[in-house]
Order: sequence, then C-alpha cells, then structure tokens
Amino acid sequence: MNRPLVTRNGPAGRKSLLEEAQLVFASLLFAWSLSSLRAAESGPPLEVGISVRDITPEGPIWLAGYAARKHPSEKIDSPLMVQAIAFKGGNERVVLVSLDNCEVSHAFIAPAVQELGAKHELKPGALVVVSSHTHSAPVLENTLTSMYNLSPADEEQIHQYSAFLKSKLAEVVGAALADLKPARLEHGVGRARFAMNRRVYNGDKIDFGENPDGPVDQDVPVLKIMGTNGAIRAILFGYACHGTSIAGDDFYIVSGDYMAYTRQHLETHYPGAVAIYLTGMGADSNPSPRGTLLDAKRHGLELAGAVAGVLSRPMRRVQGALKLAYDEAELPFADPPPRDQIEKDSRSDDVYIRNRATGYLKRLDAGVPLPASLKLPVAAIRIGDELTFVAMGGEDVVDYSKRFKRIFAADHPWLIGYAYEVPCYIPSVRILKEGGYEAQSSLIYYGIYGPFRASIEGILVKQATELMDRVRNQ
Ligand SMILES: [Zn+2]
Repeated sequence: MNRPLVTRNGPAGRKSLLEEAQLVFASLLFAWSLSSLRAAESGPPLEVGISVRDITPEGPIWLAGYAARKHPSEKIDSPLMVQAIAFKGGNERVVLVSLDNCEVSHAFIAPAVQELGAKHELKPGALVVVSSHTHSAPVLENTLTSMYNLSPADEEQIHQYSAFLKSKLAEVVGAALADLKPARLEHGVGRARFAMNRRVYNGDKIDFGENPDGPVDQDVPVLKIMGTNGAIRAILFGYACHGTSIAGDDFYIVSGDYMAYTRQHLETHYPGAVAIYLTGMGADSNPSPRGTLLDAKRHGLELAGAVAGVLSRPMRRVQGALKLAYDEAELPFADPPPRDQIEKDSRSDDVYIRNRATGYLKRLDAGVPLPASLKLPVAAIRIGDELTFVAMGGEDVVDYSKRFKRIFAADHPWLIGYAYEVPCYIPSVRILKEGGYEAQSSLIYYGIYGPFRASIEGILVKQATELMDRVRNQ
C-alpha cells in the first residue's frame, strides 16, 4: 500500500499565521542575500571558457627530454592533451594553455602565438603556453633537437607532428575564447610530498640524486571554476616538480607523466569537470621515487588526492577585475670563452659540446655577435585581490618559487614556470654559485655557453615586482 502524499501547507493551500510570517521572513532574507551578492560582485563579471584537444601521436615518434633514448616510442599509455582556459573580465582577456610536452622553444612557439594573438586580438603576453614538462611526449621542431640522434625520416615525422600540434593549439585557443561564460571561482592550497630536491653535494661537485634536505615547494594550488549553476566546469591545479617519473625500462612509453594521471582521477571523480595542470617553478626537483610508469601513476594518485582534499573543504572566493602585466627581462651572460677554446670544444668527443661550439663558430665566422643576454617572458595575471598568477619562461629553479611566495604573500601568488617558452634553465644566485646541472652543464644541450651572471636573480625579482605593482594599481 502507498502512503498518501501530505503537503506542508495542509488542505487547499491554507497557511497558518506562523507559516505566513516564516514565508515573509524567508523572502526578505532571499532579497537581502541577493543584494549583498550583487554588491560583492560589483565590477565586470568574470567569464571563463574551456577547451581541450587530443594531441596523442599516432605512431612511433622520438620522445623529448632525455638524451639517453636510442629510438622512437613503442607504446602509448596515456593520451596527450592541449587544454585552454580563457578568462575575460571587462576588456581584459587572458588564455592559459596547458600543453603535454617537455617544452617549446621561442623559434617553435613565437610564430604561432603571434598569429593567434593577431587573430583573436590578444595583448602581448595574454596567451600563455605552459609546458607540462613531461619527458614522455614527442620531440618538437627547433626545440632541443640537437639532443637526439634523428634520421631524416624521424625529422619528417617531427615536422608533421609539430604542424599537427600547432593546428590543435589554434583550435583549442579559439574554442576556449568562444566558450566564455560567467563563472564563479574559488582558490585553495593543498600539499603533495613526492617532489624531491635532486641536487646532491659530493664535495665540491653537484650530482643528480635525492637530497631530502634540499629546498622543494610541495604546495598544490587549486582553482575551482564553477558555472552559475554551481556545477564544477574546471579544476586548475599546479605542482613544482619535473615530469620525470618515467625513465629507464619505460623510456619508450608515450605518457603525460604524473599530471596526466592526476587529471584522469579528477575527471573520473568530478564528472563534467576538465582538470588542467599548470607547471610550477621546481626545475631542481624530481619525483621520488622515479624510474617506472608505476611511479608516475602513484604520484598522479597522490596529487589527485591533494587536489580533492582542497576541493572538499571550504575555499576562498576569487572575484574582481582581471589584470595583465607582461614584459621580457634581459638576463646577461658571462663573457663567452676565447675563440681557441671554442675551436677546441668543436673537436670534443662529446657530441653536445661539439654541437654547441659549432653553433658559436658559425656565428663568429658570419660576423654575428655571440649572445650576450637572453630575453625571458615574465607576467603577472591578477583576478581581484585574491589571486595573482606569476608566470615566467624557462626551467625556473625552486628558489624563485620560494622567494616570490615570500615577497608577494599578500597577493596570493600562484607561480607558473615553463610559461611562454623555455630557452634554458633559470638558476638562482645560490645555484649559480654552487654550480652543477641547472647552472652550467644543462646549457650545453641548449647550445649556450653562458653561464648567467649573478645579477640574474635581482633582475627577475625587480621585473616581477614591477609587474605586480602594475596589476595592483591598474
Ligand atoms: Zn627539465
């Protein structure tokens, strides 16, 4: 037998005096909360657009990031993605692109960014391509190509993949801008423990290894993006650690590394949401442990747990005007070695030292000045007073993460490395003094003698501070 349905108001909709009073009170409360919500949301409403494209290579292809690989990829474990999130507030628009690749050079990305900027009338610096730094995605044209032993057929494949990637980049940026609609944003920070400082001190030498006493940034910034109906549309998350969980026996597997597995977990757990990773400044951190595909999956799970932990607790509302300030910092190199040293290097047994020297000799012979400095993109992207992305090009060591978080603490900074383009590592003064891979030997692969002068850190802090002042006061 079914129970009869009972309405709250009793028969024929007759209400008691108490119920009438409750209704009046409730509607007053509703009107008050609406007006206070409107007051809090004064200024142009923030709009967000989201788009995703698959960029998984079809067949075997050389993977970027390790010089030790001997042949193209053998299998695909996780699809590779390019994702775009567009923000619009008033007249300002910014598009953040998360790219499953090791990195993009200026030569590779600048023409594409210029074309897309002109097409969509974006300001300089408004299109921010952030490489995830997975070391298990294809080699791209004009990007560290001297690191690999490529046949003409391999090069043709890379040429084709690069063209395909650029077409998908154009699609995803256009689609995100076409998807702009009002959004509600909330920010929080969690923590994941697998980032490990990788600089180990052996006497005066710095080697690769695990240094549990070295600096790391294990914060997990999270931005929840909801529609006006409260449904989660996107989850942005960051972490400051190399995408190098996969190595050794699993060298030839296509994968987005730990961040791709984090995305998969989040998108399963929050159906309808797109999970987007923004790489932090942790170029001297590696995942621990590392070496196998299973390590990548394990770290992906830990990071997803950290993000879910933030999402499950109250988060801070982010609202207000969108502001962008962009510039390029000029970072000076030490004087190059004399020509006879470069000529000696051009006969080295080490192919990478030989390649770097040959490049410099070609310039000298053609009367082209040797590089005296490097231009590095830096930006501050602010939403109200509750969140400011500080985005910087290059492989930025963790000292920048720590220092920017300290000096910009009141601005709720979210630090993004590998942004715009990756010309080389960006060492701090401490790391320049200590030496090692991030200060010196990595420059060989980037074809630069360097090293940077010790003024580098002061220049970057000054640049970031100027940009922060501009977005604070605009
Ligand atoms: Zn790296």
